[in-house]
Amino acid sequence: MPCVEFYAGILCAGFVNAHSHLELAYLKGAIAEHGGYASFASSMTAVRNNFAEQQQLKAIAEADDAMWKEGVDAVADIVNGATSFATKSASPIHYHTFAEVFGLKRCNIAEQRKLLHNPDTSLTPHSTYSLSDADFKAACEGGNGAPLSIHFLESEGEKQLYAGCGALHEWYSQVGFECDFLHYGSPVERIVKSVPHDRSVMLVHNCCLSDSDVDTIMNHFTASVYWVLCPRSNSYISGVVPHAVSLLRARGLNICIGTDSLASNWSLSMVEELKCFEGVPLDELLGWATLGGAKALGLDDRLGIIEPGRRCGIVNISGVNLDTMSLTEAATARRLL
Ligand SMILES: [Zn+2]
Repeated sequence: MPCVEFYAGILCAGFVNAHSHLELAYLKGAIAEHGGYASFASSMTAVRNNFAEQQQLKAIAEADDAMWKEGVDAVADIVNGATSFATKSASPIHYHTFAEVFGLKRCNIAEQRKLLHNPDTSLTPHSTYSLSDADFKAACEGGNGAPLSIHFLESEGEKQLYAGCGALHEWYSQVGFECDFLHYGSPVERIVKSVPHDRSVMLVHNCCLSDSDVDTIMNHFTASVYWVLCPRSNSYISGVVPHAVSLLRARGLNICIGTDSLASNWSLSMVEELKCFEGVPLDELLGWATLGGAKALGLDDRLGIIEPGRRCGIVNISGVNLDTMSLTEAATARRLL
């Protein structure tokens, strides 16, 4: 007689985490919450070399395992170095790795290019505030059809920098960082004047996004644009709420969900991210967390939806209010297949 197992809740396809930094898993709890973005960025520089490699590798393996058990099938993963590749190549999770180019005093583009022999790895510029004009454009070249993944409008400081004020401007003035890109006038103008229109982009965070920012982006790109939201990271760093979600939904744009790293989150749980979007129907939320990320990474022919011919995981989410079809605070996910 076949064995029958019963699970409470709902089933969905395996998740696609559209933005993480697995290699930073060892920084869980190392940076104080709610210090604001400039403080977070400077704290990262201070703490990231304080941990032994063994400690880093152990944290990376544990984070990969936790994501797999929760039901994550694929991850858009950002790296600065090589520490996460061994875990990723042995993992059942599919990783696309973005080797992130940044550095205003000394750019890391040569080191990042050396990582490109790893599987499914491509270059991307980190953001519109952390690399010179030439390095930003160089980081947008090549890629073999992979999208770019750019941290975008995570804090007001990014826009203010172009106006010569704000927290990033003050930090840069103190440490002597020089910017040769302020003539673009704004982060969004820098993107559309530097990224080819036919290169797909994942724009990550979008905390301070305006209607005109969206217009400018959508008028420029002929390739797909994916808007990646990481609400718990924003909450951890700045207490910012992702109000951009209503703007993006109203226009029917491609929304994806990321956890960001354990340096700025309490866990890498996709379901915990989804709990941040009150009032959004559950089927829409699950689409962002599954097919949304799969499309961004070009994996939607096999992942993102439970359908004959696809090979996605099967995930059970418990703690769902089946009357209102919404996630309760107690909701959790686990991989069944
Ligand atoms: Zn990030």
